[in-house]
Amino acid sequence: MVEDDEAIAGALRSHLQGQGWAVDGAVGVSPAWAALTVERFDMVLLDLGLADGDGTELLRRLRQTPQGRLPDSATPVLIMTARDQVSSRIAGLDLGADDYVTKPFDPDELTARMRALQRRAAGRAQSTLRCGELEIDPAGRTVVRAGRAVELSAREFAVLLVLLECRPRVLSRAQIEQRLYSFEQVLESNAIEVHVHHLRRKLGDTLIRTVRGVGYYVPAEDAQ
Ligand code: CA
Repeated sequence: MVEDDEAIAGALRSHLQGQGWAVDGAVGVSPAWAALTVERFDMVLLDLGLADGDGTELLRRLRQTPQGRLPDSATPVLIMTARDQVSSRIAGLDLGADDYVTKPFDPDELTARMRALQRRAAGRAQSTLRCGELEIDPAGRTVVRAGRAVELSAREFAVLLVLLECRPRVLSRAQIEQRLYSFEQVLESNAIEVHVHHLRRKLGDTLIRTVRGVGYYVPAEDAQ
């Protein structure tokens, strides 16, 4: 979240965290760029009028950097701006933004747009994910297994979603942690292992596989 208005940033952070997103904040172009050069983010929420420059500059730099020189130069970007002129929205989209909201916006609309971006980034159109006898709804954050609802904690749900979105790739614990936690959160060293252990207890132990010394994965549908 690149936003220099403290009130907006604070309100947005609690709304997003309440919906299970891990949020890292930057107040300007420079700190945001510094973060993008060291870490991969699921998406960037970008304010345009920033104290140290214009958000479109950050967007331009991000998209002009060749893939491979940054952790992810193709990460989805959602512009949040008070500039409601059509021309600045067109300019942002043409620079490589994926969507935008005009301030003031409804936070629920923002998170619905974020879920849409996440679906597109993962290459799927359906809003629910299916995997064997599981049906996962990222919007309602519900999991149904063979017709029965399964209670998962917010973290367990997030771990499951990351593994499903990336299947059948093997993800290391560090990669899962990076997608789940923001910079300032301190982790128990075995946090991910504990979540996986609970998920196996609730969802059966054949869904999430371990590659010893490497990480975890969910096999492709036809391999189950
Ligand atoms: Ca601003």
